[in-house]
Amino acid sequence: MRVRVLGSGAGGGFPQWNCNCANCRGLRSEALHTTARTQSSLALSADGVRWYLINASPDIRQQINAFAGLSPRAVPRDTPIQAILLTNAELDHVAGLLSLRESQPLYFYSTRQVRDWLLEANVVFRAVCSSAQRTWKIVSLSGQHELIGADGKDSGLRYQAFTVPGKPPAYLADVVSQWDEATIGYKITDARSGRSLAYVPAIKQIDANVTIVLDGCDCLFLDGTCWSDDELVVQGLAQKTALSMGHVPISGPDGSLAKLAGLRIARKIYTHLNNTNPLLIEDSPERRTVEEAGWEVAFDGMDFAV
Ligand SMILES: [Zn+2]
Repeated sequence: MRVRVLGSGAGGGFPQWNCNCANCRGLRSEALHTTARTQSSLALSADGVRWYLINASPDIRQQINAFAGLSPRAVPRDTPIQAILLTNAELDHVAGLLSLRESQPLYFYSTRQVRDWLLEANVVFRAVCSSAQRTWKIVSLSGQHELIGADGKDSGLRYQAFTVPGKPPAYLADVVSQWDEATIGYKITDARSGRSLAYVPAIKQIDANVTIVLDGCDCLFLDGTCWSDDELVVQGLAQKTALSMGHVPISGPDGSLAKLAGLRIARKIYTHLNNTNPLLIEDSPERRTVEEAGWEVAFDGMDFAV
C-alpha cells in the first residue's frame, strides 16, 4: 500500500496565521531548521490509482493541488479520491469537506456520533452530503471490513475502526453530554500483502485496548500534537493543556513515547504536530530523543510504501 502524508500539522498548521511563538517566528525568519506544515491528513492507495483519505483538513485544496496523484484524469469532472474516513469531528479534520462539495461521487466514513454531530448539529455540513452521489457509511467498531469507495469496488484495503480516549470538539463541548464515539483510530490492512498501517492523530490516553490494536502493525502514525502537557501554558500562548485538548503528550511517564516503547511496530511516525512542538525543529534535543527511540516525524509530502 502506498502512503502519502498530505499534511502533518495540528489545527492551525505551521506557522499558524496569528502565532508568533518561537517556532512560528523561527520558521518565518528562517532562523530555525524546520519546514512549514499544512493541517494533518493522510492518503492511502493499494493500486496507486484510487486514493482513500483519512480526514479532510481545511488545507485540502492546497494538498490536492500539491500531489499529482490526486489530480483529475478524465473529462469533464473526475477525482481519484474514492472515500474520506474521519477520525473525529474536530475542525482541522472535517472543515475540508466543505471544499469538496461540487458534484462528485464520494464516500464518507465516520462513527454515527460524528456523522450526527456534523450533519445535525452543524447544518452547513449538509451541503457536503446533499446529493444522491454522496454516501455516508457508519463504521463498525468491531472487526475488519472492506473499504469501498465511490466506484463501488473493493479498494484492496481493509479497515478496522477502534475507539480511543478522546473528547467532543470544543465547538460542541457545551452542547453534547456523550462522546463515547467522538474519536477513533483506523487500522488499514492491504488485503494482498497483509501489511498494515494504523492512523491515530488524536488520542487522549494510551490504554491497554489501544496498545493491543497497535502492536504488530507495520506502520503507525500517532498523535504528536504536543511534546509536553503544559507546552502552550509555559509559552504564554493559552491556558489549555495538551490533555484538555484531547491529546496525550509525547514526553513524561504517561506520554506516548514511554507507553509505546515495548510495542513491535516497524515504523513509528509522529504526526499532527502543533506549531509549539520542539519536534518540528530538526536539530532540537527532543527530536534527537524520539529519533533515538526509533520514531520519525512526519512532514508534508512524505511518501512511501508499507
Ligand atoms: Zn506558533
